Amino acid sequence: MEQKTQHAHSDNAPAQTLSFTTKAVHSGEEVDLREGATGDVVAAIHLATTYARSKVGEPGRYEYARLQNPTREALEVKLAALENARYGLAFSSGLAAETTLLLSLLKAGDSILAFDDLYGGTKRLLDQVFTSFGIETSYVDATNALLVENAVKPSTKMVWIESPTNPLLKLADIRAIANVARRHGLILVVDNTFLSPYFQRPLDLGADVVVHSLTKYLGGHSDVLGGALLVNNQQLYERLQLHQNSTGAVLPPFDSYLTLRGLKTLALRMEQHGKNALEVARFLEGHHKVGRVLYPGLESHPQHELAKAQASGFGGVLSFDVKGTAADAERFLERLKIFTLAESLGGVESLIELPAVMTHASVEKAEREKIGITDTLIRASVGIEDVADLIADLKQALA
Ligand SMILES: *Cc1c(COP(=O)(O)O)cnc(C)c1O
Repeated sequence: MEQKTQHAHSDNAPAQTLSFTTKAVHSGEEVDLREGATGDVVAAIHLATTYARSKVGEPGRYEYARLQNPTREALEVKLAALENARYGLAFSSGLAAETTLLLSLLKAGDSILAFDDLYGGTKRLLDQVFTSFGIETSYVDATNALLVENAVKPSTKMVWIESPTNPLLKLADIRAIANVARRHGLILVVDNTFLSPYFQRPLDLGADVVVHSLTKYLGGHSDVLGGALLVNNQQLYERLQLHQNSTGAVLPPFDSYLTLRGLKTLALRMEQHGKNALEVARFLEGHHKVGRVLYPGLESHPQHELAKAQASGFGGVLSFDVKGTAADAERFLERLKIFTLAESLGGVESLIELPAVMTHASVEKAEREKIGITDTLIRASVGIEDVADLIADLKQALA
C-alpha cells in the first residue's frame, strides 16, 4: 500500500499566520463551500473502512482506513498546526504512539537515554517490553543538560524527556538538551502531554519528535483514549507513517472527532487549569498540614525561571506532601468530595491520586524513594471548576 503525504485541505490562508486559539477552532476543519460540498462547519465522522476507485491502478485520495481516514486526517492537521509541526499522526493511545515511534527508529543494540522521572507507563514500556528486543534504556537526571551529555554512550540513539515530569514536576531545559542531541546525532523526543502545545512547543525549541497522550488535556474531557506524534522532517514522517500503517494502532474516526471537539476549547481550558492550579498551589503552600508543594508556577520551584523561559504557562498538575504517614495521606484523599480519587489527568474535572500506590506502583519502592516519590506524595490534576470550591474541598479534607 502506498504512503500518502499529508496536506492540509485548506484553500484559506496558511495556518501559520493564525494565532493558536484560531487554529484550535479552524485548522483541519476549514469549511468546504465548493459546488457539491456540504458546507459542514465541523469535520464529519467518516466510518467507511475502504474507498472506491474508478481505475484499477489509480486509488483515489483515500484507500483503506488503516492508512488514512478523513476524520483522523482532520485531527492530524489540527494537531500539527497547534504544535507548529509540518506533520501529525494520531494513534489509538499515547503508548501506541510511543511504541510505533520506538519500533520505527530503533533496532537491537541501540539504547535510549531517558529522564529518570517518566510517566509510569512509558517506563514500563521501555523496561519491560523493549528490553526483550535488545533495546536498553538508561535513566539520567535531565534537570541538568550536562548530566545528559555525560551519559551519552556509543549505543545511544535517542533522548526521551518530559517537561514537567510526572509526578515530581521537574523540568528539562529543552533547548539545551536539543543542542546535546544535535552534537551527538541523537533523536530528541519530548512528551508534551503535561503542558500541551498551548503552553509549550518543543519542536520550536529544537526537539525532533513531540509525543502526546491525547487522553489528557488535548481530548480534555476524560472520554477518549488517544495518542499522537508530531514532526517536521518529511523522511521521519514517512517512516512513522509506514510503521503506523504496518502495525495498525490508529485512532478510530469517532475518537478523532471527539478529540477535534475537545481541541476547540484547549486554549480556554488550559488558561483556567493554569489559573486554578496556581491558586491551589499557593493555598497548599500556606497550609500547616502540607509539606513541600511542587508546581513550576511557584516562585519556590527550583526551576521557576526555566519554566517561564521555555513555556508560556505552568499547566494544571501539581504534587504535594501531606504531613504524617501514608495512612494520613489516604484518609485525606478519601475525604475529598469534589476532587475525584482517580488516576489520569487533564480532564475538566479535578482528579487526585497517590502515585506510590496508584500511578507509580510499578516503580520499585527503592527507586521511588531515590527520586523523591514518597508514600505521602499526592498528585492533583486541577480541573476547571470554581477554584473557591476546590480550595474549600481541600481545606475540609485537611482539617
Ligand atoms: C497518560 C500519559 C501517557 C500515555 O498515554 P495513554 O493515552 O494513556 O496511552 C504518556 N505520557 C504521559 C505524560 C501521560 O500522562
